[in-house]
Amino acid sequence: MSESEIIEGGCNCRHVQYKLHGAPLAVAACHCRNCQRQSGSAYSVNLVVAADSVAIKGELACYEDPDSESGKPVLREFCPNCGSPIRSIPTASPAMVAIKAGTLDNPGAFPPAIHIWTCQMLDWVDVPEGVPQFPKGPQRA
Ligand SMILES: [Zn+2]
Ligand SMILES: [Zn+2]
Repeated sequence: MSESEIIEGGCNCRHVQYKLHGAPLAVAACHCRNCQRQSGSAYSVNLVVAADSVAIKGELACYEDPDSESGKPVLREFCPNCGSPIRSIPTASPAMVAIKAGTLDNPGAFPPAIHIWTCQMLDWVDVPEGVPQFPKGPQRA
């Protein structure tokens, strides 16, 4: 694997830093209420990656979010020092995890290719024409 395929990011205080090995499997904007609350924003942008492609330095705090479509919790991990959300792990299918794109060192490099949970999307959000939208998810991210 070449160096160019390593994607780096971290939290606001840099207590947590991570490397992703390889390109993301998907880039999804999630408009679910849980992502709105967790991000404090209109939606979250997530890189969907293989769980074993993520290397994290610095420990994460975890909120076990019971509100999921599968009924199995989503582990929402964040920096215990500055609160930046970093990773979500759906315990229903933990082989794939979501990395919060706003924490990437180069957050503009991965525009969302799909929008999910648009049944909860805010009225003023515009999804670019031609980008697929799904009322719900494969899972909340
Ligand atoms: Zn931090
Ligand atoms: Zn979500």
